[in-house]
Amino acid sequence: MGKIHEKTDIILIGAGAMSATLGSLLKELAPEWEIKVFEKLGKAGEESSNEWNNAGTGHSALCELNYTPQKPDGSVDISKAIKVNEQFQLSRQFWSYLVKSNLISNPDDFIMPIPHMSLVEGEENVTYLKKRFEALSSNPLFQGMEFSDDPEKLKEWIPLIMKDRTSNEPIAATKVDSGTDVNFGALTRMLFDHLEAKNVEVNYRHSVEDIKRTSDGLWGVKVHNIDSNVCEYHAAKFVFIGGGGGSLPLLQKTGIPESKHIGGFPVSGLFLVCNNPEVVEKHHAKVYGKAKVGAPPMSVPHLDTRYIDNKKTLLFGPFAGFSPKFLKTGSNLDLIGSVKPNNVLTMLAAGVKEMALTKYLVQQLMLSNEQRMEELREFIPSAKSEDWEVVTAGQRVQVIKDTKAGKGTLQFGTEVVSAADGSIAALLGASPGASTAVHVMLEVLEKCFPQYVKEWESKIKEMIPSYGQSLVENPELFQEILTSTSETLGLTENVSLHKSQSVS
Ligand SMILES: Cc1cc2nc3c(=O)[nH]c(=O)nc-3n(C[C@H](O)[C@H](O)[C@H](O)COP(=O)(O)OP(=O)(O)OC[C@H]3O[C@@H](n4cnc5c(N)ncnc54)[C@H](O)[C@@H]3O)c2cc1C
Repeated sequence: MGKIHEKTDIILIGAGAMSATLGSLLKELAPEWEIKVFEKLGKAGEESSNEWNNAGTGHSALCELNYTPQKPDGSVDISKAIKVNEQFQLSRQFWSYLVKSNLISNPDDFIMPIPHMSLVEGEENVTYLKKRFEALSSNPLFQGMEFSDDPEKLKEWIPLIMKDRTSNEPIAATKVDSGTDVNFGALTRMLFDHLEAKNVEVNYRHSVEDIKRTSDGLWGVKVHNIDSNVCEYHAAKFVFIGGGGGSLPLLQKTGIPESKHIGGFPVSGLFLVCNNPEVVEKHHAKVYGKAKVGAPPMSVPHLDTRYIDNKKTLLFGPFAGFSPKFLKTGSNLDLIGSVKPNNVLTMLAAGVKEMALTKYLVQQLMLSNEQRMEELREFIPSAKSEDWEVVTAGQRVQVIKDTKAGKGTLQFGTEVVSAADGSIAALLGASPGASTAVHVMLEVLEKCFPQYVKEWESKIKEMIPSYGQSLVENPELFQEILTSTSETLGLTENVSLHKSQSVS
């Protein structure tokens, strides 16, 4: 690494939702620390965090069936759902704190209330959904969930989906009115505006090319200034690699032992977007179905009301695809470039094990637009091709690593990989995603700054009152938090609806 020009306390790589969250937490906890951000694109929130590149679901397990698998004995395991829900409550609390403290404003520019529903067809699936409903609705975090297998009731809830439905198969849905649509792009941009107002130096069109230890124990970061075509050298006590899909190659450059034997597998996403306002107006929910056999969990089909640029719109998908790029704006050499002597066996083992996924991705890749419309018609039987167009969403790089389940196991969650001394951390993986950014960034703080956590605890609790506590074990605290965050974030009409609970 060349000569170090600039020393700083913290370097954040990437201007996505994760760096935005970590930077905002650190600015409250250690305002005197100097933070620099390097982002290779021209703006914040342009990759996965952009509103058109993700589904904008505030994941709290209200509707996503992959968080509630059926156990071999037929019962439904809700432990993952509880975890995801609790994690989303941390995000709601931090966002509320930022709004209340006037650090960001206009929450309806980034979060809107929208019912979250699960919808299934066929006897076996209806039985599963009923069991899931019974297991969840008695839990304080999921109170207010409604179940119905009555087609007349479903016509009230989802008229567009029920119209012209000719199938005689049993059908059922659950609905929770306290779900949210989150514009993570808008949120990311707001957080970066806030950081810049707090004197964080955000350098756009600066691509990080290398990360190495310096002789004085800092991390040296080589940055390519795209506009001046000059390489700059910076150094920091702590580096966060928040490059989204671009994090793995950067982590590998650090050479830390924790970066070894890890690979990444990119899965791209496509959505169908509705361009007919009359159709958009007929639907008001996020409706999640069941994943097809062999499909990865993030490919669960869903029909979503979205709020983008203060306009209501309708998205269906995602359809999975394969591209060797790790970022939407990445290179076709990303995947092959990430195969190193230390992870080649891990990657090969995953290739052999994940034949079902490969087959599924190839099938998805071969779909014509009309075949995609056919999948949409399983949701909206009357959908017309001329009302919908395909948009390309972001890339998700799934982590491949050696686990107890064997060599080369594909992971569908997020992973914080950090050096033993806590001087550098990277975030890999993309699920549940930006919804749980606050939880994941708190994990980064706990892993990398253990010496400060005691000192920071009271401030963290001021920002996130449930920090360190289980909400499922404290239903009163949960109710208090739900009510106060709903008020601050402008989601209030849902709180009263949330309290009613019925089955028909
Ligand atoms: C199809 C799809 C649907 C999704 N749906 C949801 C959802 O409904 N709800 C949810 O919560 N999450 C969802 N997610 C996940 C969510 O989008 C991501 O978890 C989140 O946006 C990741 O944020 P990030 O900051 O880690 O990455 P990003 O937003 O991708 O930001 C990374 C940034 O780093 C920059 N960068 C990369 N490499 C370099 C480098 N070398 N130098 C400088 N800059 C660099 C990139 O340009 C980019 O701006 C979805 C993702 C996809 C792809």
